[in-house]
Amino acid sequence: MSTLARLLKLIAPFKWWVTLAVWLNFLAIGASVGLMALSAYLISKAALMVNVSELALAITSVRLFATLRAILRYLERYFSHTATFRILTHLRVWFYRAIEPLAPARLMQYRSGDLLTRSVADIETLENFYIRVIVPPIAAALVVVLACLILGAFDGSLALALSVFLSLTGVALPLTMRWLGKRPAGQLIAARAELNAMLVDEIQGLADLLAFDQADAHRAKVLRLSDELQRVQEQQALLRGVSNALTVLFTSLAALTVLWLAIPLVSGGQIEGVYLAVLPLTAIASFEAVQPLALALQQLEASQAAGRRLFELIDAAPEVCDPTESASLRGAHAAPRATRPAAKTWRERNGVESKRVTKQSHSRLEEIASSSYGLLAKTDTDLTLAFKDVHFRYHPNDPLALDGVSFTIPAGSRAAIVGASGSGKSTIVNLLLRFWDYHEGQITLGGRDLHDYRADDVRALLGVVPQNVHLFNATLRDNLRLANPDATDEQIKAACHQAQLHEFIAGLPLGYDTPIGENGLLLSGGERQRLALARAILKNAPILILDEATANLDAITEEQLFRSLESFMADRTVLIISHHRVALEHVDQVIEVEQGRVISG
Ligand code: ADP
Repeated sequence: MSTLARLLKLIAPFKWWVTLAVWLNFLAIGASVGLMALSAYLISKAALMVNVSELALAITSVRLFATLRAILRYLERYFSHTATFRILTHLRVWFYRAIEPLAPARLMQYRSGDLLTRSVADIETLENFYIRVIVPPIAAALVVVLACLILGAFDGSLALALSVFLSLTGVALPLTMRWLGKRPAGQLIAARAELNAMLVDEIQGLADLLAFDQADAHRAKVLRLSDELQRVQEQQALLRGVSNALTVLFTSLAALTVLWLAIPLVSGGQIEGVYLAVLPLTAIASFEAVQPLALALQQLEASQAAGRRLFELIDAAPEVCDPTESASLRGAHAAPRATRPAAKTWRERNGVESKRVTKQSHSRLEEIASSSYGLLAKTDTDLTLAFKDVHFRYHPNDPLALDGVSFTIPAGSRAAIVGASGSGKSTIVNLLLRFWDYHEGQITLGGRDLHDYRADDVRALLGVVPQNVHLFNATLRDNLRLANPDATDEQIKAACHQAQLHEFIAGLPLGYDTPIGENGLLLSGGERQRLALARAILKNAPILILDEATANLDAITEEQLFRSLESFMADRTVLIISHHRVALEHVDQVIEVEQGRVISG
């Protein structure tokens, strides 16, 4: 389907709004034409010093058209804008829904500034498509018919002359301008996208650019791009200027030609003299309808370019496709705890009693924590995690990131994955989270292949503390609520207490209402990690994955953290990716990976 057809299909739910906008536009310009024609008639008639009663109808009609024109113009603007905002909302939601399944695998190839341009500027360009591209030509066609009918009622030649000038202004001029403006329009979109992408990149990396003394070089690049953008915009402005000038010229020429043709008709007695002024003024008024057509065609170009960029993005096949029916994660595949080959847990091996851990302290927060987050330990769902000979590469030509990985983490036990950077540890988490799909080997959860589950269902079971957590520019509380929007303040505090963060937050003047800046820049690395951990605790999922989650903590804090997490980790399946000795002391098995292979564990 062509881009134009797809754009039209997108507008389908708004066809009545657009129809209303077309009619109101036509009626408003029609009222203008009527006002001009009647005013000319009234002035000419009054000049003949006729009885005022003979003018009564014309005077009333002029008043009526003047009032109508204002009301109709208001209504037209009102409904057009309402329609535009609704369409804009619809487009944003449509685009967001379309790209959501593509994250993160398919979106990685785009720079964030490019994505920003597509989701903001391109969508806003499309907003014009409906009101500035579709409505004006239809309304113009109706006005042209009306004006030609009025002039044709006096003489066919007048209608013909008018239609020639209207076509010149409404068709030939826009087509020429489109042809001339094609290159600048494409260049404008590309240059704007490039500039936005570069600016976002640069602002995000400003600290590094300053540190490496590269800010000036980057500023020069940005300036070069803005110059390019300005050059293209100037070209477009020049074209618009020429187009406006020619429109005024054609309007005047049309009025003169109509007058020139009408004078002999008046002298010959075919047309009454009082109508002479009516004819050119009707012609002039009708040009209001064709004036926006040059812009409409320019907008058509821009809309198609923006539409192509949006469709190109959303047409990408998602990396992971959900099965039509998700396998049940409870009941059917549940294995009673007693019959499951239970792994000897860290507590058993180290002789630590659960009671001692959970009742270490009787503080109120710990009580809340154990009552809020202890529930999962009692479920019978078998959440044994197993990788069987999994091979995976990110792109067909890439080397294998996982080369026959096999391991099993029995439900309720804890495993650590260790290995040098680049050995494939995060890839294991990426596959578990269904961010990427595997095609060789098998990953099972509760005995069923991960492919049998919907990605959302799997993710609901995983509480992940990622290596690079994304924090939103909001308050601490809002960032925590992301994991569980229904969490009470007490539960939030309890989770932070377990993540060893509560004391820090309680010491802040604004406490949980402290804004943390863009991506949590106002927090230290360790605080960010503990915040991510508190989020995972609040999510209360049965499987906990810590991906280098304690990398920024000192050994004492880390040890305290693991101790405090004991009650939360009890009976959950836990996967820890870490280099630290402290973390390894808290697990039942250590899986060592090297260059995508498990070498021990
Ligand atoms: P680790 O977590 O052990 O440091 P990763 O799992 O991140 O290692 O990476 C394993 C290999 O996969 C590395 O060679 C890395 O370059 C590659 N890799 C990781 N992420 C991507 C990606 N999104 N696209 C392409 N290659 C990737």
